[in-house]
Amino acid sequence: MAGTVSHPASANAPWQTHTVFNQAPPLVGLDVFSSNLPLVEAVTREGAEWVSDRAAALGRTIGGAPQQEWGRLANENRPQLRTHDRYGNRIDEVEFHPAWHQLMALGVENELHSLPWTSDEPTAHTARAALYMTAMQAEAGFCCPITMTFAVVPALRAQPELAAEWEGLVTATSYDPRSVPAAEKGSAIAGMAMTEKQGGSDVRANTTVAVPLNGGGAGAEYELVGHKWFCSAPMSDIFLVLAQTDDGLSCFLLPRILPDGSRNAFHIQRLKDKLGNHSNASSEIELHGAWARMVGEPGRGVPTIIEMVGHTRLDCVIGAAAGMRAAVVNATHHAAHRSAFGKTLIDQPLMRNVLADLCLESEASTALAMRLARAYDEAHADADAGEDSSDAQLFKRLATAVGKYWACKRAPNHAFEALECHGGAGYVEESGMPRLYREAPLASIWEGSGNVMSLDVLRALTRSPRSLEVFLAEVEQAHGANAHLDGAVRRLKDRFSDPATLETRARRVVEEMALCLQGSLLVRSTPAAVSDAFCAARLGGEGGLEYGTLPAGSDFGAIIARSRPRV
Ligand SMILES: Cc1cc2nc3c(=O)[nH]c(=O)nc-3n(C[C@H](O)[C@H](O)[C@H](O)COP(=O)(O)OP(=O)(O)OC[C@H]3O[C@@H](n4cnc5c(N)ncnc54)[C@H](O)[C@@H]3O)c2cc1C
Repeated sequence: MAGTVSHPASANAPWQTHTVFNQAPPLVGLDVFSSNLPLVEAVTREGAEWVSDRAAALGRTIGGAPQQEWGRLANENRPQLRTHDRYGNRIDEVEFHPAWHQLMALGVENELHSLPWTSDEPTAHTARAALYMTAMQAEAGFCCPITMTFAVVPALRAQPELAAEWEGLVTATSYDPRSVPAAEKGSAIAGMAMTEKQGGSDVRANTTVAVPLNGGGAGAEYELVGHKWFCSAPMSDIFLVLAQTDDGLSCFLLPRILPDGSRNAFHIQRLKDKLGNHSNASSEIELHGAWARMVGEPGRGVPTIIEMVGHTRLDCVIGAAAGMRAAVVNATHHAAHRSAFGKTLIDQPLMRNVLADLCLESEASTALAMRLARAYDEAHADADAGEDSSDAQLFKRLATAVGKYWACKRAPNHAFEALECHGGAGYVEESGMPRLYREAPLASIWEGSGNVMSLDVLRALTRSPRSLEVFLAEVEQAHGANAHLDGAVRRLKDRFSDPATLETRARRVVEEMALCLQGSLLVRSTPAAVSDAFCAARLGGEGGLEYGTLPAGSDFGAIIARSRPRV
C-alpha cells in the first residue's frame, strides 16, 4: 500500500488522525451539459444546436444546488401520505419536502414537460431530450410527473374540446402544488392510472368500471368505481385512467380537484414502499364514484392512452442515458483522483478498461436517445402533413420499443459497475451511487417491462412489415465502414427467417437490433476509438459479459477522455 500514502500520519502530531487524503475533491460547479461531449455533439448532429446555450445554462444550474442538495433532500425526506384531517375528513394529501417542489418548479420552468408542444422549432423534441437528459442528472424522481405531463398532450388531442381546456394548463411554465382547481392555478401536472392488482401489462384485465352520467360517449361525463395498484405522482391535477364501459376499455380524464374546488372521489389508500425513486410518491388509489370525462372513442382506451405511453417510453430511453451519464461522471471523477498500488485508478490498465466500457455504454445510449428524439420531431411533422405511415413514423414506432428495451436493460448493471469503481465508498449513501443504483431498474419495469417491450417490437413488425426495412436502412447508412457491424447486420437479417420461434427468441433479436442501431450511430458520428471498440466488443464477439472486457487494443484513453468531466 506504500504508493497510496502521500502524507504519512507520522508527519502530523500523534493525536492528529483525521487527515483526509487520497480522496476525490467534491464534484461541484460542473456544467452538466457542456461537459457532456457525447451529448453536445449529438445535439448538433440531430439538428438542435439552437438549444445549446440554453442547455448549458441549465447544465450549470443542475450542477449546483439541484444536484448537490435538492436531489438528496427530496430522497432522504420521503413523501408522507395524509389521508384524513384531524376531524376525520378525507383529504388525500401527500406532503413533500420543499426540495421536491424546487425540482418540480425547475423542470416546469425549463419546459421539460412542454417544449415540443409550444415551440415552432422543427427539432423541439430533440432539444427537449437534451434538456431532460441534463436535468435528470440532478435527481430522477421528479422526472416521472414531468414526463407524464409531457406525454399526456398527444393523448388529450384525441378529444379536441378536452385538449382545448387542458393543453394550455399542462404546458404552462409555472408550477403550483396547491390543491385548488387547475384553472385557478393556471397550470396543471398530469399522471396516469392504468395498472391494477390483477394486471399491469395486460390492461385489458382492468376491472374499474365507468358509468355514463348523461348518455356517455367521447368527451362525455362518467363516474368511475375501482382501484388502481400503481398511480405515481398522486398529487397531479389530472390523470388519464383506463376503465371498462359497455363498449369496452376506455380512456378517461379525471381531475383530482373538481371545478367547484371540492375533492374528486380519488382516494389514496397508501404509498408504495419502493426500492428507489424515493422522492416521488407512488400510490394505490380507489375511485369511489370519481367524476371523469371520456377521452377518445368508447372502447378505444388502449389506442388512446398508447399515445401517452409512447412518449413516456421515449423518456425512459432518455432517462436511462441520463442515469448512465451521471454514473460515468462519478466513476471517472473518482478514479481520476484516487490512487491504489502506486497509480491513480484511472491509470490502472484494468480500471481503464472498466471506465472505458462504461463510457462506451453511456455514449451509445446517448446517441440512441437523441436519434430517437429526432424521429419524434420528424414523425410529428409527417403527422401534421397528414401522413400516418411515413418512414420516420415507422422508425419512431419500432426504435422506441427497441430502445426502451435495451437502454433500460443496460442501466442497472451500468450503475452497479460505476458504484463499484468507488470501492466501499460507492456503497455508502452519501456518495449518491446507491440512489443511482436503486433508480436504475425502474424505467425497465414501468410502461412496458422487458418482455412486453420485446413483444411490442414483434407487434410493430407484424403491423407494418415495412418498418423493418426502414430500421435496417437507418442501420445500413454505416454499411462498409466497420466489418463487425456489417457482419452483425447480416446475422440480424437472418434472425427473422423462423417466425415460429420468434416470440421465444424475441429478447435476443431485439438486443441485436439495438446493438446494430447503436453501432451504426457510433460508426457514423464518433471517433474511431469509440466506434471500433464498441463494434468489436458488442458486435464482434471480442468483449465479455461484464463491463471492463473491451479488447486490449482499444484506445481506452481516447474513449475516457471524451466522457470524463473536467472541473
Ligand atoms: C415505481 C413504479 C411506478 C409506477 N407508476 C405507475 C403509474 O403511475 N401508473 C400506472 O398505471 N402504472 C404504474 N406502474 C406500474 C407499471 O407500469 C407496471 O408494474 C408494469 O406495467 C408491469 O405490470 P405488472 O406489475 O402488473 O406486471 P405483470 O403484467 O404481471 O408482468 C409481470 C412480468 O411478466 C412479464 N410479462 C407480461 N406479459 C408477458 C407475456 N405475454 N410474455 C412474457 N412475459 C410477459 C412482464 O414483462 C413482467 O416481467 C408503476 C410501477 C412502478 C414500479
